[in-house]
Amino acid sequence: MVEEISQSTREQREIWLQEAHYNLFNLKSSQVFIDLLTDSGTGAMSDKQWGELMMGDESYAGSRSFEKLQKQVEKLTGFQFLLPVHQGRAAENVLFSTMIKENDIIPGNSHFDTTKGHIEFRKAHAVDCTIDEAFDIENLHPFKGNLDIQKLEKVYQSYPKKQIPFCLITITCNTSGGQPVSLENIKAVKNLSDQYGIPVIFDAARFAENAYFIKQREENYKNWSIKEICKEMFSYGIGMTMSSKKDGLVNIGGFIALNDEKIFRKASNFTIIYEGFITYGGMAGRDMAALAQGLDEATEFPYLESRISQVELLGNLLIEYGIPVQKPIGGHAVFLDALKFLPNIKREEFPAQTLALEIYKEAGIRGVEIGTILADRDPETRENRYPKLELVRLALPRRTYTDNHIRYIAAALKNVFDRSDEITKGYKITWESEILRHFTVKLEQA
Ligand SMILES: *Cc1c(COP(=O)(O)O)cnc(C)c1O
Repeated sequence: MVEEISQSTREQREIWLQEAHYNLFNLKSSQVFIDLLTDSGTGAMSDKQWGELMMGDESYAGSRSFEKLQKQVEKLTGFQFLLPVHQGRAAENVLFSTMIKENDIIPGNSHFDTTKGHIEFRKAHAVDCTIDEAFDIENLHPFKGNLDIQKLEKVYQSYPKKQIPFCLITITCNTSGGQPVSLENIKAVKNLSDQYGIPVIFDAARFAENAYFIKQREENYKNWSIKEICKEMFSYGIGMTMSSKKDGLVNIGGFIALNDEKIFRKASNFTIIYEGFITYGGMAGRDMAALAQGLDEATEFPYLESRISQVELLGNLLIEYGIPVQKPIGGHAVFLDALKFLPNIKREEFPAQTLALEIYKEAGIRGVEIGTILADRDPETRENRYPKLELVRLALPRRTYTDNHIRYIAAALKNVFDRSDEITKGYKITWESEILRHFTVKLEQA
């Protein structure tokens, strides 16, 4: 599908921002020229996927489309038990209802925001064991999503096994910049976890992009196909949660896949309560069929190469202009370092949010804050949690924009960068919700 996008004036955008309480989530899509808010569910489907939509089987139970999806997931991951759900966070809700209880500890590599939300909502704790290199944006470590095995072992030594239901590996690691996890690291996590009797689960939203980086950067796997690498990665876990809106190449959907029948049985009950019967879980049959096809396309090398090199093109143009970005460039997005980009904005005035707003004002481009607003308040002290980095994420939808759009984005950013000295005032919060505040927060100019 091709759709029209339209430009606006700076004056219009200033008014729209005010009406949106300076929260980019409140803008209408018609007010956005190039939308880099997220790569989640925003990509374009292929001819074959549209064909699959026509052939969806909408039977309540045992639909052919479910069967197709189950076979595809098992082929790619080795996990035989499948529970479709309506999106990634629903997979978290179902699986965490099954596996997490109050006071539990969930170690992992920079848990995604909804993941952390679902852990903390259950009064459990997410412990970040990402390697320190991930927080140094100039460090060219090829696998900045890796877990620090020593940090992980410390967690395993500090709490009894029954308090740690699983270790969660996010591939690629969204929060630390779309950075991959190496197979070597996945194996090391699995070995250590085995010693402590703790299973490994994948948050696999961008598993195909992770596999691409393994093929490109890990010597042992350079001759493996993407599909072989995927199967190998998943062989070190007992299951996965998936947001199909990312590497499923569809607009909505998710699933849980497991090789543990006991957990599957328990999770099936929660699926029925929260999502729907276990062979559709909130998805239309046709959407499951399109997803089965999307998973196949997302794990083909030529697709991944064109996708990830487009993200790299944007990153390299910005680097050329001297703009501070997270390096190496991640799989689905380019991350701007707002503390360096806008050195005159105080932490309390949200530098990353301020930068995201400036970029929109400049050119109608919508990115998203990955900083203090997203990091939320500490659930106990209710103080703001200041993360190590203040980032603005420019996420590229899959198969949507051309390289010409990419050049426009880069030029717009250069304009903001050239006048960054003049940006001296940030924003303050006027209203916020108790949890996941970034979606609905209201701000005003400080
Ligand atoms: C998007 C995402 C989720 C949540 O999925 P939704 O489909 O948005 O509910 C969970 N984990 C990661 C790593 C994600 O990128």
